[in-house]
Amino acid sequence: MIKFLQNLIQIESLSPNDEGCFDLIEDRLNKLNFNCERINYLNVENLYATFGEKGKIFCFLGHTDVVPTGPKDKWSHPPFSGHIEGDLLYGRGTADMKASIAAFLDSLDQFFSKNPELNFRIAVLLTSNEEGDAADGFIDKIVDDMIDRDEKIDLCLVGEPTSYDKVGDSIRIGRRGSLGGSLKIIGKQGHIAYPENVENPIFSASEVIVELKNTVWDKGNEAFQPTSFQISNINSGTGAKNIVPGELNMLFNFRYSTESSQETIIDKFESILKKLKVEYEIDWKLSGLPYLTIENNLKDTVVKSIKNITGYTPDLNAKGGTSDGRFIAKMGTEIVEFGPLNETMHQIDEHVKISDIKILRDIYTDILVNLNKNYS
Ligand SMILES: [Zn+2]
Repeated sequence: MIKFLQNLIQIESLSPNDEGCFDLIEDRLNKLNFNCERINYLNVENLYATFGEKGKIFCFLGHTDVVPTGPKDKWSHPPFSGHIEGDLLYGRGTADMKASIAAFLDSLDQFFSKNPELNFRIAVLLTSNEEGDAADGFIDKIVDDMIDRDEKIDLCLVGEPTSYDKVGDSIRIGRRGSLGGSLKIIGKQGHIAYPENVENPIFSASEVIVELKNTVWDKGNEAFQPTSFQISNINSGTGAKNIVPGELNMLFNFRYSTESSQETIIDKFESILKKLKVEYEIDWKLSGLPYLTIENNLKDTVVKSIKNITGYTPDLNAKGGTSDGRFIAKMGTEIVEFGPLNETMHQIDEHVKISDIKILRDIYTDILVNLNKNYS
């Protein structure tokens, strides 16, 4: 398993390119008699593999692409070397999320070696564009195709790194939605010495910002933190010292809970602008709907397996950024996200503990065994 993971790490699969990871993975799945299908869409490569004829579909969802390394000379070991030091395996994509893929493939070997009779169907769905722009996202497309064909993934385990201090101390049963926008506040440009002739959009923006910052969008709920509003960029000014600018541009983002919706947020936001009598133009972009898994079939199985292997009970939450789980949720799928520690993901010196990957593998195996029992 560790050698296999090193091989995956040594492939520079910068998003949205797979660069051959799927060849290695498909090889493993073929040996287990999975039916492997490559579905390429726009610039994105994808692998969909299935095993079994009847019963509920359980799918492992993941991605082979990785984020850029940042300055390579800052890394203690070359980011695509898969260097091992003691219990640590270094490399871009170790935590996010090639270790989960290696662990899951190994768990399939373990599972099939002791469970010849399968009571459900197993699918593996991997994309090479999770980290990139969701507009090119393929998972969304495959889900639409499945819905058209009246097919459905019943249970989905996403291998994203969800753990904090110990493998399995935290799993995600939902994710917040992400709604972004670009706001242009329109004023009236003029000479800075003639305040009666200008309308300063920076002053208007300051009132708007205070109001937005102080607004309680919702209080969240048991699974979700309250909806949060953040500003990422503000631009205004002509560069000249004696000109009041004519406009101000601002980029902002909401991470929202299931207590709010795209509509309620947009409504509240624009009513603030109207109340303050601001002239504006706005573009909204929804990059992810929130989801929350209510049913307990997969949730309970994952919790039980984590407890079996580690002895502790995970925290169930909806923290973190968006994930491809949001596309699968459209099918009414039960989704649980569970993978290794997220501490070093996307960072310089990203790494995983080899001992952790083995624990992860054993938990994944236990999940498969328990699902098979549940469906017998
Ligand atoms: Zn990821």
